[in-house]
Amino acid sequence: MGQIKDTMVKLKCSLCSRITHYTKRNKKKVKEKLALSKYCRFCKKNATHTESK
Ligand SMILES: [Zn+2]
Repeated sequence: MGQIKDTMVKLKCSLCSRITHYTKRNKKKVKEKLALSKYCRFCKKNATHTESK
């Protein structure tokens, strides 16, 4: 098995603060925290999701 390069990160909805998505981030390539517009099933609309530990 090779090295683990990608780390699983949680994406938290900025509106309801729930963890709604999981994604991978290559910490060597992407230094900034993620901020993605994704659909939140709790808010039932698209919202900015930020990385959460
Ligand atoms: Zn939400």
